[in-house]
Amino acid sequence: MSARIFWDKGITLEFKGESLHLDVQRKPKGAFLLVSHAHGDHTGGLKTKGEGRVYLTRPTLALFKAAAGKEPPMEVKQVRYGERFKAGVFRVEAFNSGHIFGSSGFLVEAGGLAIAYTGDLNFVDSLLTEAAEPVDCDILILEATYGSPSYRFPSRNAVYSRIVKWTVEEAGKGRIPVFHVYPVGKAQEIVCLLNQYTSLQVYVHPKIARINRAHRRFRVKLEAEILEGKPEPGRAVLVYPKGFLGRFEAGRVSPAIATGWAVRYQWTGLEAFPLSSHADFPQLLSYVKASRPKKVYTCYGFSEALASAIRRKLGINAEPLPSRGEFKEL
Ligand SMILES: [Zn+2]
Repeated sequence: MSARIFWDKGITLEFKGESLHLDVQRKPKGAFLLVSHAHGDHTGGLKTKGEGRVYLTRPTLALFKAAAGKEPPMEVKQVRYGERFKAGVFRVEAFNSGHIFGSSGFLVEAGGLAIAYTGDLNFVDSLLTEAAEPVDCDILILEATYGSPSYRFPSRNAVYSRIVKWTVEEAGKGRIPVFHVYPVGKAQEIVCLLNQYTSLQVYVHPKIARINRAHRRFRVKLEAEILEGKPEPGRAVLVYPKGFLGRFEAGRVSPAIATGWAVRYQWTGLEAFPLSSHADFPQLLSYVKASRPKKVYTCYGFSEALASAIRRKLGINAEPLPSRGEFKEL
């Protein structure tokens, strides 16, 4: 008997009448769910009420609770990288995906096949994460956020240097640099960078402060305070969610964003740094090479472009993950 796979707001594997859901946005009743990391576009299923069981790493659970402000309404099993466990008929192992603190991919065994799901993936070290671990597998389900040849990031150290230089220069002009970034992951990387390479006081939004606190429980050193009153120009730097763009006094503030899209796009009146928690196009191809799969299914983002490049450049069978009605027998 072979397993089936398809995309339906997340990934579903079916085998011997049982289903395993990976990062689905709505979890069917009583099902097994694997959650790769704490970003909102991967944790929808964690908010679905009803029976069932979710498997995720300890940091992912802590970051989810800090971001969502609640416990998942289902049975929770915390797993570690390298730990093997059973979810119904599926044998599973979590591995580091390098995306944000605690993020994991999952290696699933079904019908004699090793099926690896990367979740969001980063294949270089950052201040807070180690590069994703390649996993020997038969089938690789690979994210394709930046899976188009036009996305090639500068080295992380080069981007870090640019961020520090800009921040210190802006502060030196008596201005207040403000970073508008994702509260989970990117905010902590920026805080950590500013802590290590500047002597500026870092102020964060209360939501980011909560998520920082969740990181500190795992001994991640992050020094930042919640802003009370007005920040002092020249001595302060702010790290706030994107929704706060334009909400500060325009004259003294120098706003910035940090996103992989900055290699292709520019924003008026905004400094944009190409700092991403995702692999770029060359990294995605390197990851496939290192994992040596027989078949790749791409999902999220540039699925077609990445699948085509994997076929052409690596000679490996690849295609975007089919939707529910067009499931694949593995
Ligand atoms: Zn993510």
